[in-house]
Amino acid sequence: MRIGVASFSHETCTFCPKPTTVEDFEAGGVEYGKEILARSRGIPNYINGFILASEEEENVELVGLLAASRSRGGSSGSWLTEECFDKYSKGIAGELEKNGPIDGVLLALHGAMAAKGYMKPEAEVVRRCREVVGPDVPIMVTLDLHANEDHELTDAADGVFILKTYPHVDSEEIGYIAAKCMIKTIRGDLKPVMSIEKPRIITPSVYQGTGEYPAKEIMERAFRWENTEPDCICVSVAFGFAYADVPDVGATVIAVTDNNKPLADKIVTDVSDYIWSLREPFAGKKLPKTKEGVKEAIKLAKEDKTPVIVADHSDRMGDSTWILKELMDQGASNFCVATISDEKAIKMIQQNAALGETITVKIGGRNGKYAGEPVEITGEVTYLDECQYVLSGPMSHGDTRKLGYTAVLSFGDNNHVILTPTLHQVLDDAIFPAVNLSLDDLEIVAIKSRVHFRAFYNDHAGSIVVIDAPGLGPADLSQHTYENIPKNLYPLE
Ligand SMILES: [Zn+2]
Repeated sequence: MRIGVASFSHETCTFCPKPTTVEDFEAGGVEYGKEILARSRGIPNYINGFILASEEEENVELVGLLAASRSRGGSSGSWLTEECFDKYSKGIAGELEKNGPIDGVLLALHGAMAAKGYMKPEAEVVRRCREVVGPDVPIMVTLDLHANEDHELTDAADGVFILKTYPHVDSEEIGYIAAKCMIKTIRGDLKPVMSIEKPRIITPSVYQGTGEYPAKEIMERAFRWENTEPDCICVSVAFGFAYADVPDVGATVIAVTDNNKPLADKIVTDVSDYIWSLREPFAGKKLPKTKEGVKEAIKLAKEDKTPVIVADHSDRMGDSTWILKELMDQGASNFCVATISDEKAIKMIQQNAALGETITVKIGGRNGKYAGEPVEITGEVTYLDECQYVLSGPMSHGDTRKLGYTAVLSFGDNNHVILTPTLHQVLDDAIFPAVNLSLDDLEIVAIKSRVHFRAFYNDHAGSIVVIDAPGLGPADLSQHTYENIPKNLYPLE
């Protein structure tokens, strides 16, 4: 049997200012054919899960179609332009046509994509594939835990499988489960049916870590169904992505069973009701603001609970300066802000200073009131070059991160700022040696991450402080004016 494999993925913060374009995806890298499989082999992602499942079976060939999942700047890009969405969704359909006949289609999507002209972009991708392969060829989808979906996707696809971990460390496993289900379906050994329910709750990403109450308990409920019902193939809970202003925003429960629709219905109702019962603790945690959070970080550093990882969870553009400024104002030492996105400042440094020279430059704070003011730094240029590194932690282990032209300014009492051209989320410690720094020399490290950093830093940090600085991804969702979401979502109304 021949199974087509494609990916098209973006987590879209629609409150960010700049649209996501074809150029952004092309800059990040778009692959076709065999290259898709070669690039994923050995990296714990969905597609490697497809590969592992297929290699355990006789006569299963994976056919790479199109992979567009790494746009420049990631989720700091707003709505995909219609041109961009059409190019890659039609591109996948076109590759399917070229590479036919195909017995099944596996799509690694995200679920929190927002595209101009298409309010349900993932469902549209599936429908475009369906037009090519017809009603009888199964199409199955893997999604991120931050997916915003509704029945349009489950109506269009034959199986939907969603990550159960945040930090996302089960991509390969979910890909494997989806591919096994696909192979058995093609062979006629099972007949997947799905049910879906939305519990009408919207939560900020920073509250959704599955290591903590109540997200942990919600996932345990899903696992319990999987472990006790033989007909149950997969129970998925997407917590949703609150920073996409789309009509299917918010949590979603999907159950896939083997031809047992009453069981699928029962599961989604049970899990959805359970989430609803936990809505208050889920949506209403408290986090320190900038001043208080930085004070706490400095205190922890003095107590030798180092490195203190400071998570600037709300910065969606990567250029926010609130925490950098507060660290300087409160006289912190041995700190690194990793990173501040500022292409203009990097260019300015490149034109006016060489490695080892001292320069005064204003950095960050370029994207409106939530980014804070630009901060003037006089520092030594201790790194100035293209930068890429290989991820070392549990998330995407072995995958390469290309940062582009990067600069490091070192100043004060062993303080550093890493400047990158676009938003960069630090997941582990691999960035530091790549720019000639060492985590061992740092007491406070401020990063732009919500939960993913915990996959590595829960074991490698002396302490962690999550700070609710101003930003486009706030803990208080009432900051944003939504135009497209339903009226009855907790806790907004
Ligand atoms: Zn996610």
